[in-house]
Amino acid sequence: MAEILKGKIVADSIKEEMRKNIEILKGKGINPTLGIIRLGSDPSDVSYEKSIIKACSAMEIEAKVFERETSMTTNELVELMSELNMDDSISGILLFRPLPKHIDENIIRNSISPDKDVDCMHPLNLEKIFEGNMTGFAPCTPKAAMEILLYNKVELEGKNVVVVNRSMVVGKPLVMMLLEKNATVTICHSRTKKLNEVTKAADVVVTALGKPKFFTNDFFNEDSVVIDVGVSMTEDGKLSGDVDYENVEGLVSMITPVPGGVGSVTTTILLNQVVQAAMK
Ligand code: NAP
Repeated sequence: MAEILKGKIVADSIKEEMRKNIEILKGKGINPTLGIIRLGSDPSDVSYEKSIIKACSAMEIEAKVFERETSMTTNELVELMSELNMDDSISGILLFRPLPKHIDENIIRNSISPDKDVDCMHPLNLEKIFEGNMTGFAPCTPKAAMEILLYNKVELEGKNVVVVNRSMVVGKPLVMMLLEKNATVTICHSRTKKLNEVTKAADVVVTALGKPKFFTNDFFNEDSVVIDVGVSMTEDGKLSGDVDYENVEGLVSMITPVPGGVGSVTTTILLNQVVQAAMK
């Protein structure tokens, strides 16, 4: 049976530190505040927004929602971004993506102040990660995966780590964070040949496909540490990770559950970055 790497305990330890910082800020009359920009009412955005607001309120962080029509133009969104950049009452800004197709995401990514960019959207913050400088704002999901590995003292130096995802939101920044810890990293994607042989030979496997129960026992060995970032729905409407958890849990040495794994740390990372932004 694998050791289950639950996200809550990792999130709780981050929150402990965060509470101290919030107290210091409030003592100085600073109220950490997250500005959320949402275009339209996509149900997954609305549900994510609700969960963020709930998490903010539990930590006494304020959340202000700026809801706009999906017909908003790139220029109008840049204007809103500049307003929030200049608004001293807003510590950090989160813009829900993907954006409507007519909006030029490249212009928008460059319009957020790097100092308020708590979701690591601005190229300058991403560049820092790629330069091995981990002092700025990190993309929340790969950072959550890293925090789970570090909290559970999974050795990374010199270890073979396979990341199955090459997106800018997850795989690429995660690879940089792993390299910074001196892991030997392999990045896999949909064109990778004999994926199961590559993952089976690794010490740590991070999966982020979005295909429920894709990774069966055939992809792992008894020493594998498995971090499942994927979130999707099975045909019978149940939330699932990329890994066939019920079976794989009996084989590998450590595994994150879905739900209750990486996802439960991601929002805490976001809030922590709002607090960091307020401290700056
Ligand atoms: P994405 O851009 O669609 O990336 C999926 C990746 O999986 C791509 O690199 C793709 O390869 C690769 N892939 C797809 N099919 C494959 C196959 N058969 N074999 C090997 N690789 C394959 O998605 P994303 O935005 O990065 O998100 C990935 C997953 O993470 C989703 O399930 C999402 O819900 C989840 N997620 C979770 C959190 C969290 O907090 N837990 C946050 C964000 C995202 P190509 O590049 O070749 O297409």
